[in-house]
Parts: sequence; C-alpha cells; structure tokens
Amino acid sequence: MPGDGIGPEVTQCAAEVLRHVRPDVECTLAPVGAAALAAGLPALPAETKALCDRSDAVLFGSVGLPEYDGLPLAQRPEYALFVLRRDYELYANLRPVRVFPGLEDASSLRPEIVRGLDLIVVRELTGGIYYGRPKEQRTVDGVEEAVDTMIYRAPEIERIARIAFDLARGRRKHVTSVDKQNILETSRLWRRVVTEMSAQYPDVRLEHLLVDNAAMQLVARPGDFDVILTENMFGDILSDEAAILTGSLGTLPSASLGSRGSAGRQFGLYEPIGGTAPDLAGKDVANPTAAILSAAMLLRHSLADDSSAARIERAVDGAYADGLRTADVARSAGAHVSTRAFTQAVLARL
Ligand code: NAD
Repeated sequence: MPGDGIGPEVTQCAAEVLRHVRPDVECTLAPVGAAALAAGLPALPAETKALCDRSDAVLFGSVGLPEYDGLPLAQRPEYALFVLRRDYELYANLRPVRVFPGLEDASSLRPEIVRGLDLIVVRELTGGIYYGRPKEQRTVDGVEEAVDTMIYRAPEIERIARIAFDLARGRRKHVTSVDKQNILETSRLWRRVVTEMSAQYPDVRLEHLLVDNAAMQLVARPGDFDVILTENMFGDILSDEAAILTGSLGTLPSASLGSRGSAGRQFGLYEPIGGTAPDLAGKDVANPTAAILSAAMLLRHSLADDSSAARIERAVDGAYADGLRTADVARSAGAHVSTRAFTQAVLARL
C-alpha cells in the first residue's frame, strides 16, 4: 500500500528489493489514504481491506497530506491506519534503531556516543492511557475537568513482554523494561508480570528503569541498550527520542505485529516511521532506507525468513559503508545520490 507523498516512491524501491531476494512472494498493489480518497473511495477501501484479510503482511508507505489536516479523523487519509491497527489488533510496535557504519556524523549526538548503536524499542500499541475508559472532558459542579484512564490487564503485558524476550534471544540477550512503578499502579503490575515472565528466559538479562531515567540514559549511553520494552505512551515518547539518535527519519523502519497468524506467519504491517514528507514528494530525493528495511522486517517477522532479511540489511549497510548518501544524511558539503540511485546501489550489493 504505497499511500501518499513520498510513499509511492519509497514503497516501489522496497518492493523491488523484496522481489529481488524473494521472487516467489506474491505482491499486490492496493490504494490507501489520500490516493484512495482522490479516486472517490474511502481511505481504506473495502477491496484493500479484503486483500489484507488474504495476505500474510502489509508493506505500507505512509498516508496523509496537508489539505486533509483540518477534517475529522474518519475523513482523513490517516483513518486507514487507524482501522488497520484496530481491526488487526496490531498490539506490538517494533522500532529498530541502528546507526549505520559511516553515518555517525548524521546524528545530533557526538559520533563516539552513537557509534555501533543497535537497539530496538518494543512498544505496546493497543492499550494503556490512549485507549482506557473513561476518557472525556466534562463539567462537574460547574468546573471543567478532563480524564484519561491508564489501564493494563495482565495478559496484555504478557503478550508484549514475550515478544521482547523472544527478540532479545536473537540479539544481545538484554531487555530493559521501562515503567513508572514508584507512582503508577499499572507500572507495578507491569513490573511484576515482566519479572515473572523473565523466569522463562534465564538466558536473557532483565533490567528495569523508571521512564524519566530511561529518557536520560537513552542520550547518555544509547549503546548500552538492546531491547527496550515499554507501554504505549512511554513507548510513543521514547521511540521518537531513540529515532532522532540516527539523524534522519528516513532510515528507520517499523513493524506492527498483530494477534492474527501463527508462529512463522504472524500478520504484520511494516512501514517507515516517518510520514509522507510532502516537501520531498515526486523529486526522487527521499531516503528509501526506512522502506527497504521495513521489507526486511516483513520477511523476518511475517515470513520467518531471517536470512533474506539479513541479506537486505547487509546490502544497505554496504551502500552506506561505501559512502552513498541521500540528501537527508549527506555531509553538508558532500555529494548525495537520488532515491533511485541509492536503491540501485542496494540491489547491486544483494
Ligand atoms: P514527515 O515524517 O512526513 O516529515 C518530517 C521531516 O522528515 C520532513 O522534513 C521530511 O522531509 C523528513 N523526512 C521524512 N521521511 C523522509 C525520508 N524518507 N527521506 C528524507 N527525509 C524524510 O512528518 P510531517 O511533515 O509531520 O507529516 C507529513 C504528513 O505525513 C502529515 O499529513 C502526517 O499526518 C503524515 N504522517 C503519516 C504517518 C504514517 O503514515 N504512518 C506518520 C507520520 C506522519
């Protein structure tokens, strides 16, 4: 689903890379977002939704354009994502953050602090304060007030914790669980459930951090983190903080995994964490890395094909190591290549 703005350009690049490593994967193109609205269809057309029902995974571009910004959610392109997340119960948001070799100077932190940085944020995406009820503004005894409700049920914590521990096993075997257990009851339950689950993963080191401390440590010693496990709102904030460590939104993929599917065939939606970047659309200048690495995540998590995913990641690393840069990560005086040229460089290294 290419979507809007730079979505079609970068999704096309990702699909080419995906087809190159796995020609047997059947890919079907479907309209979504403003592209669907402009054709007189809803943001998530029924046919697109039916296609998702029959698919193992969705490779998503991004949706949204400034001209729709003032409208109610149900009439905006972003409504498509809202429906997909809700209907497929995409409860686990995975955001890997890596600094590519040679790209340390693109970060806002000093190169020696971000060199070798390789972490993944595992954020709970369908619970917590964003969804809890009551959630309203009201007037009580003549005074205006507002309430949001933070609520977690133990099974919601268990399923997201399991994803974090399983991921850690394939990485550096270190989970940092982030909460606010000195203040919040939900955090006390969170910490207890995560600690109990860690008994099933004796090979994985579990560390707990309070969210305020985690926010500091993430910029002080980002290289020490491996898997960061956290609830919805904390994850929203920390994953954006982690993202900026690399210097450009254009390099960062994401996965949102749902409850549908089985081991090895887990349904998921894969997309760059950035938006539609209307300022760059149609100019062949956007960085396709996030979309290409989203395709790699799709192979790893929804098609259980770790080796093809790793091949793509090595090819991207290779392109950066050889000095190729799109405009967003180019050194101030340095040359840069187009979206297409960067993709060709990745294809050439596969
Ligand atoms: P944005 O992420 O589109 O852009 C923020 C900045 O990052 C811009 O300077 C942009 O040029 C840059 N950028 C983003 N992706 C890039 C890439 N691949 N290569 C190089 N630079 C890149 O955020 P915004 O401007 O706040 O939002 C634009 C539109 O996107 C809005 O309509 C918003 O609702 C939508 N949006 C969609 C999603 C999604 O589909 N998941 C996410 C965020 C925003």
